[in-house]
Amino acid sequence: MLRILINALRTGVVTTGYPAQPSVPPERFRGAPVFRSGSHLPSPAVCPTGAISEQFDAGHRHVALDLARCVFCGRCAEDPWAGAITMGREFELAARLRDDLRIEVVDDNAAVSATRAAPDLQAERASSEIQRVLGRSLHLRHLDAGSCNACDWELTALLNPVYDVRRLGIDFVASPRHADGVVVTGPVTRNLETAARRTVEAIPEPRLVIAVGACAASGGIVGEGYASAGGVDKVLPVDVYIPGCPPRPEAIIFGILVALGRLDARRATPM
Ligand code: SF4
Repeated sequence: MLRILINALRTGVVTTGYPAQPSVPPERFRGAPVFRSGSHLPSPAVCPTGAISEQFDAGHRHVALDLARCVFCGRCAEDPWAGAITMGREFELAARLRDDLRIEVVDDNAAVSATRAAPDLQAERASSEIQRVLGRSLHLRHLDAGSCNACDWELTALLNPVYDVRRLGIDFVASPRHADGVVVTGPVTRNLETAARRTVEAIPEPRLVIAVGACAASGGIVGEGYASAGGVDKVLPVDVYIPGCPPRPEAIIFGILVALGRLDARRATPM
């Protein structure tokens, strides 16, 4: 017992101060790709997940990056495009609307702009209702809908002493009937479509559906096919999308707080 106490005192407090304090990812961490304006950007064929697309309009080449599809592999930032795209370090990427994860660049006139959808009033109303009913406490059911388990490991890390989401009033429960929402990982395999729907139907209204990781947000590397629905929103209405492959634990915390209306999307300001 004495040894345990001494070890605990030696270790000190390991719990992160995030989101009240900023979190600095490790050196080798890859965040969202950053397009350098005015550069020659790669063709869509470079991207293994179809996150990069292009279209031509009045002689201009429009290149778009879908962060929901991106697995941050870094292939588009390798030679010969190393100068055009760099892998950034941003991880606070969660968004309520899928369109907010789309970044569009005009390749030849240095214009860089993130396309934003018009404010979705229905989504805003649902969000304020969730905030009113759920307040500052949230119980979530984790649903693995065909993931590779990478996102699931990161979700599990939320309960360890380093991330300790319970300090934020967030916890995980075993039954959807005891939950306020569901965090879904994986692209939703066809075999799990019915189970995913039934799990969500068992959660009392108002309820949250949070898509964690590229597969859940868009189908990711798995895509859509005979065995995969191609993302949670093909099966269920999604409240928040959390990009990443897998998203780091802080990115998941950020997304959950966005879902709760305790953070503005893309801005880590605790409310
Ligand atoms: S980092 Fe990889 S997945 Fe993301 S846009 Fe570049 S090539 Fe595609």
